[in-house]
Amino acid sequence: MLPNIKKPVGNPLLELNYEPAIEALGSQYFDEVEPAEFPKHLLRFRNDAVLAKLGLEPSGVNDEHFIEALGKFQGRRPLLALCYHGYQFGEYNPRLGDGRGFLYGQVRGIDGELYDFGTKGSGTTPYSRTADGRLTLKGGVREVLASEALHALGVRTSRCLSLIETGEPLFRGDEPSPTRSSVMVRFSRSHIRFGTFERLDYLGRGDLVKILLDHVIEQYYPHLQTEKEGYALFYTELVGRTAELCAQWMSLGFCHAVLNTDNMSITGESFDYGPYAFMDRYNPLFTAAYFDHYGRYSYGNQPAICQWNLKMLQTPLEAVLSMADMEVGLATFEERYSAAYTQRMLSKLGFNQAITPELQELLFLTLKLLKDTEIGYHQFFTELTEHFSPDWQKGPEYIFQDSYLYQAAYSESWRARYHHLLSQFQESEMAIIIQCLRQHNPKTVLSRPAIEEVWAHITYDDNWEPFNTLVKQLQNPYIH
Ligand code: AMP
Ligand code: MG
Repeated sequence: MLPNIKKPVGNPLLELNYEPAIEALGSQYFDEVEPAEFPKHLLRFRNDAVLAKLGLEPSGVNDEHFIEALGKFQGRRPLLALCYHGYQFGEYNPRLGDGRGFLYGQVRGIDGELYDFGTKGSGTTPYSRTADGRLTLKGGVREVLASEALHALGVRTSRCLSLIETGEPLFRGDEPSPTRSSVMVRFSRSHIRFGTFERLDYLGRGDLVKILLDHVIEQYYPHLQTEKEGYALFYTELVGRTAELCAQWMSLGFCHAVLNTDNMSITGESFDYGPYAFMDRYNPLFTAAYFDHYGRYSYGNQPAICQWNLKMLQTPLEAVLSMADMEVGLATFEERYSAAYTQRMLSKLGFNQAITPELQELLFLTLKLLKDTEIGYHQFFTELTEHFSPDWQKGPEYIFQDSYLYQAAYSESWRARYHHLLSQFQESEMAIIIQCLRQHNPKTVLSRPAIEEVWAHITYDDNWEPFNTLVKQLQNPYIH
């Protein structure tokens, strides 16, 4: 049967000005594939905010347009399953690649930047191995929630443009089965991964590493294009972007869970949300994926793993860069990470100014308190935000006096330190601290029980209201 490439007329999603940026690089980076045909198409989520970024008026794009373009994949060819390898749990795997997705197209946003539409759950490809090429509906729901939450919290992340339920029964070991199916379209800066470069090196194609890297710099690091040391500056900037991203995850209590090198973006953007979790209690050993038996991707290991992944990327980049230059770049991670993490954590405590040893001591004491008590990580900062009072300047005993944390999170040294820092401010400056607390401590955090509750309504009653409500709350997380 011939592929359905008849272009439906008047569909704004199909009339976007697609740019064949990856396609133009040559055929060594992808395989052309055909999408699966699904028995049903039910639009479960559409991201109107993303439409606006593409210059589309949401009211001009109806649900049928979404289904034609992003569920039936009518009217756009070629669809490109991207090739990549990667280190999975520390082991090199040359049998990866888009096994259940493809690059649907690339479009420039109204900001002038190039963006990818990448699918997940759109059918098998040459990289599916024995798997079905599908995405469970619950997996799709979880990715929508994670990316909307992280985006609203200020993280540079991929987002979901659409989630369409597709009416097939799927069998999975980690969900009660049969479970429902879906196809998602992800909107991100790029689907080029560390593992995309690792594959080229594995194939002995240093020439292609250079071509791909030039493309990456042109599109995602354009300010480096005319630099003499452009490649070295690129690597150092990627180290910096990754360190900043990791500091964001850590301050938000987010555990990505599967930081394999095929899930690390060359743009330093966060993407691919599988068994992630926002941790409940502060615990560096918290591990979100049930299959992560040794805690390799535990919450507290994320900075070390990001560095390890950046180190592995040095091997392919040796085609264009010296190891010595890359080591200099990688050495900047530590400082970038720790400055960004400390600054973010101090903001969560109400302090926006330059880091001092006293403030660092407060952070140390805060983490100790969170570890030593049973207080939830987000709960602590929410209570701090909601109960903070200028009265706290009067003495350590005023701190948390009208909160249950007065007993539950008792720490003499923390209270003394917090009070001491407050006493250095004018009374009139207390409003600035309150504002800082409100700006950095979300009221809504995506907890695992919240996801399960939303899913229970979908699975038992096909009721999508709680999901829609949660999405809206996650999109406005700072309203206290
Ligand atoms: P992920 O865990 O989603 O990052 O996927 C890791 C690798 O497994 C990628 O190459 C995916 O394309 C592939 N993969 C995951 N799930 C499936 C599936 N259901 N069918 C085909 N390939 C899959
Ligand atoms: Mg992946």
